[in-house]
Amino acid sequence: MLDYMDINSTVGFTNGVEIPRLGLGVFKSQPGEETETAVRWALEAGYRHVDTAAFYRNEVDVGRAVNAGIVPREDVFVTSKLWPDDFGYDAALRAFDATLRELGLPVLDLYLLHWPRKGMVADSWKALETIYKEGRVRAIGVSNFEPHHIDELMETVEVPPVINQVELSPYLPQMAVREYCRDHGIVVEAWSPLSKGAVLNDPVINEIARRHGKTAVQVTVRWHMQHDIVVIPKSVKRERIVANADVFDFTLSDSEMAEIDGLDRGEDGRTGPHPDTIDFWD
Ligand code: NDP
Repeated sequence: MLDYMDINSTVGFTNGVEIPRLGLGVFKSQPGEETETAVRWALEAGYRHVDTAAFYRNEVDVGRAVNAGIVPREDVFVTSKLWPDDFGYDAALRAFDATLRELGLPVLDLYLLHWPRKGMVADSWKALETIYKEGRVRAIGVSNFEPHHIDELMETVEVPPVINQVELSPYLPQMAVREYCRDHGIVVEAWSPLSKGAVLNDPVINEIARRHGKTAVQVTVRWHMQHDIVVIPKSVKRERIVANADVFDFTLSDSEMAEIDGLDRGEDGRTGPHPDTIDFWD
């Protein structure tokens, strides 16, 4: 049981870099003041990890908050992602330059292939390997990769991915992806961990929350952590950002973990596209 965790707890990648287990997501946080303020509040609340992407159009605002001197730059872990429109070796290098420029950072902590765009993964990954070897990113990984996508990538990699960020929640526990990643030393990170807010109304999670004097969201964040899954709930509201990180003063029992595991809805638990069928960049 990981009951020694606190907001600074990290998980180690195979290359030795450590990622904080809890981060702030900023997808759909509006570019401008909304995102910058949310990240500032998160840093003030003790978060040391922010998850953005070129696609979110708010890297510049994340960068402003991270560079504001609230905490030393080296204490904050920043992730961004390469959108499939920019896949291909040269385009990926250009997109990464733009990401660093937007963020106002000389070095990024983690850069991910955002989705497994068919036929373009290998060349794009080569670009990530190049920037990794140049020391401009501390770790490289993938997002929305099914095991078969990673198998295919592994055939050509020099530097293997250290993390796979996938949609994951009590309703979509992604057992196959988790098992595959565990067997290959790849950390799993959950996007839409709150099922975009749906867990708030879950009777099982609310009953467990009541027992601990916590909220359904806090129980859900804690469930991810106790499963060793990096978790990045999004909010732009200060009290929620603070509350979502107030998860280190209680522990879910084995039977409570099993109860939440039992909420698996299979494919119906998915709120976003399936990686095998998404094609909006083709
Ligand atoms: P989440 O599961 O984190 O849910 C976010 C929603 O829950 C928002 O509407 C938020 O509203 C609300 N919320 C947050 N905290 C509370 C609370 N305590 N009480 C009530 N409501 C709450 O969904 P996301 O889709 O944002 O996923 C999290 C992060 O994952 C993203 O921000 C992004 O960084 C990443 N992501 C990655 C993807 C990928 O393809 N790799 C795809 C999608 C997301 P409010 O802001 O108003 O508080």
